[in-house]
Amino acid sequence: MTMLSAAEALKRLRAGNARFVSGEGVREAYPSQARLAEIAQTQEPFAIILGCSDARVPAEIIFDKGLGDLFVIRVAGNIVAPSQVGSVEFAAARFGTRLVVVLGHSECGAIDATLEELLRPGGRQSRNLRSIVDRIRPSVEEMMKTELRNDLDALVKHAVRANVDVSVNHLRHGSEILEELIESDGLLIVGAEYSLTTGKVEFFEDTTATAEE
Ligand SMILES: [Zn+2]
Repeated sequence: MTMLSAAEALKRLRAGNARFVSGEGVREAYPSQARLAEIAQTQEPFAIILGCSDARVPAEIIFDKGLGDLFVIRVAGNIVAPSQVGSVEFAAARFGTRLVVVLGHSECGAIDATLEELLRPGGRQSRNLRSIVDRIRPSVEEMMKTELRNDLDALVKHAVRANVDVSVNHLRHGSEILEELIESDGLLIVGAEYSLTTGKVEFFEDTTATAEE
């Protein structure tokens, strides 16, 4: 099987999420013995998803996908630290996967924790949790300087998006391997947001998929 292009991969994710939202998901997560034997030999994930650890946002389920389909990296706040860059590099280089989605979600607890830290500095966060908050902090801090500081709900909403953008930019520009793949091999890195209330995934820059439809 040849690897899907980024545009084809996006199309597949959008179709899977539409099935999930409509309740018509086929739950490919439950494989036959034959399928198990097939993917035990090799994996060919058509998309790399960097998402939040939030229990309500499991990538395979919300995209109606199964074993072997997605290479998923989950970390609170879908932040990008060196181990996340390395994971994306590994999958993109090893399997030829051409689509990377940074998937944030509404009402993200990691954004809330960052906001709390900014409103009440010197709190009791552990050093480890702080290493996550510190990566989200610049996005939230910028917004605290605007009118948004008077509307915390709106601030969180904007911060979720800004935090996804930061991760996307970090992946696009923080790795020679990924830059090379973007430039000459069709690798696409896009941001997206999952809504906890509707189940819908909205892609931020979906130009490729729109052009094809
Ligand atoms: Zn979250």
